[in-house]
Amino acid sequence: MDQPNALPATADIVIIGAGIQGCASAYYMAKTGMKVVLVDKSRIAGQQSSRAWGFVRVQMRDPDEIPLMEAGKKLWRGLEAELESDLEWNEGGALYASGTPAIMAYREKWFATARPFGLDTRLLSAAEVRNMLPNLASQVSGGLYTQSDGHAEPRKAAAAFALRARDLGAVILEGCGALAIERSGGAVSGVATEWGEVKASNVLLCAGASSWRLLKQLGIMLPQSYVRGSVARTNILPHVTDAAFVGDGIAFRKRQDGSFNIASSMHGDVDVTLDHLRLAPWYWSAYRDSAKGLTLHVGAPLLKDLCQRMPWREEARLPSIHAREPMIEPQQERLRDAARLLERAFPHIGRVGIAEQWAGNIDTLPDGIPVLDAPAAVPGLLVATGFCGHGFALGPIVGKTMNDLVQGTQTDFNLRPFRLARFAEGDVKQPLSIW
Ligand SMILES: Cc1cc2nc3c(=O)[nH]c(=O)nc-3n(C[C@H](O)[C@H](O)[C@H](O)COP(=O)(O)OP(=O)(O)OC[C@H]3O[C@@H](n4cnc5c(N)ncnc54)[C@H](O)[C@@H]3O)c2cc1C
Repeated sequence: MDQPNALPATADIVIIGAGIQGCASAYYMAKTGMKVVLVDKSRIAGQQSSRAWGFVRVQMRDPDEIPLMEAGKKLWRGLEAELESDLEWNEGGALYASGTPAIMAYREKWFATARPFGLDTRLLSAAEVRNMLPNLASQVSGGLYTQSDGHAEPRKAAAAFALRARDLGAVILEGCGALAIERSGGAVSGVATEWGEVKASNVLLCAGASSWRLLKQLGIMLPQSYVRGSVARTNILPHVTDAAFVGDGIAFRKRQDGSFNIASSMHGDVDVTLDHLRLAPWYWSAYRDSAKGLTLHVGAPLLKDLCQRMPWREEARLPSIHAREPMIEPQQERLRDAARLLERAFPHIGRVGIAEQWAGNIDTLPDGIPVLDAPAAVPGLLVATGFCGHGFALGPIVGKTMNDLVQGTQTDFNLRPFRLARFAEGDVKQPLSIW
């Protein structure tokens, strides 16, 4: 994408972070004629938004997010036409097979909670799962299926929003980190960036796992942390299902070219830093509940973190920027295991090879749902962050909702569960899942 080289002196809104939340918000705001400046310390969708599996699902979502996600799916259905871009959108459903009665019971519990929303989710018997997956070789107790769920390509979606936002006049600057959100008389007055200052009476903070750093400068505490997730792209494989699939310890979706994105559905890695230790009281119960699924890495990550805190390091000199392009290593062994599990579950596909692998730091909040807010305490500030491993799917509706908030239009959703102040108030529920 061509890069403009000048920072405008003023804007109606400055958006910090060009992940899918920032790019979608820039698009919907520019569409209304707002003068939008979007800055990223690195590049468009350089972090989570291009590293996701690509599931777009309401299935197994926190009930507070269900109305948003249902509206979000309506946007996804028309997005390729609206953005004039191929996003590899596939409305192939989401199918979660349950290998044991205990897993089935967990999914039945979610199903009961989600029932009032009138979703098209169905509980499946073991026979129905086998009917949908005739080649499945493993044990199955039943399943959960949502026909209207789907999947799309993360490497394309945020970039498509950014391209169209630029067409509508948004200025998008890569390699331009936000140093601080500026205030005058308590209200937002602009953003100090590495390229200079932009005056604006609105600022949207959607800097992924770094959002807490900019809030801290405003005296606002956000207990945001991260878990490392690893993903692989396989060789081109025979057809299994169009659905986004979870079961037997693996998650996968078929890409447009016939290869699969695969991952362990049950495992994440925590690279323990001083910030993880500082936030341990917030996460203690979530970590305990998912203890089997999390591997803690203590030595090398802690040492690296301590080095980054040395006063001469860029990470320490520019705390709001911190690591500009963090090197995030995939857990290769876990991905090899996922490939073997896939071979075992569907023997007809033959040998599963790994063509590419990557990892991303999934930003987390202790209650497993994001912050979507325009907090009254800081007039002009909007925040969209902490998506806990499922914010790719929410990106379009979040962009639209942030536009509603900045325009002062009534949103269609109850955003109270997503308010920033819930952490200061201590009104933090148990998470369905934090990643
Ligand atoms: C391995 C993995 C699998 C996932 N699978 C799914 C899935 O299947 N479905 C789903 O819905 N979600 C999934 N997710 C989660 C999803 O990717 C995220 O929730 C979503 O992309 C978050 O978008 P974002 O815009 O908030 O953050 P990000 O994409 O992380 O973007 C934040 C941006 O802010 C920039 N930034 C940070 N600090 C500054 C600063 N000071 N100044 C300027 N810019 C700054 C960063 O450079 C970055 O580009 C997955 C995530 C991972 C890592």
